[in-house]
Amino acid sequence: MRWIKNFIGRFQGYSGCAKCKDTWNWKKSKDIQYTKNESMFALCEECFNKLDVSEIIYWYEDLLNSHVRSTPIDYTPERIKKIRQTLKDNITKEKKASSQFLTSKKNIIHANRLREANASLHPNSNPSDLNSRGNPTDSNPSFPLRESRLA
Ligand SMILES: [Zn+2]
Repeated sequence: MRWIKNFIGRFQGYSGCAKCKDTWNWKKSKDIQYTKNESMFALCEECFNKLDVSEIIYWYEDLLNSHVRSTPIDYTPERIKKIRQTLKDNITKEKKASSQFLTSKKNIIHANRLREANASLHPNSNPSDLNSRGNPTDSNPSFPLRESRLA
């Protein structure tokens, strides 16, 4: 049914997601704010959730570039630079928020298991001691062990 919905969308003049090409008449777009009251959408929510940050940034910059090409008078190099930075910041923020939402429940369970595991492995050590030995590349310092060890 997807191709029929896209066919209708194209026919009605809708554009679509830069990645999967599904059209905006039926697919929900992921709006990213780039000034106080302007936002743009290059991807659908589904693709936004699936792709990693660098590819998402690529598609939004690509959309920005095509805007700049079609109406260059609206853009100074300074403005483009500012928009780029804002897009990047907001994409990173949004992506973090959505992945935290998806894994928050899992993390709570892991955190509890971890406490139990640590308690049985190191009965005399205190929690701050364990944290300081955490992997420095780990984004969340409250989880000293890698998730894979718990799986
Ligand atoms: Zn998509």
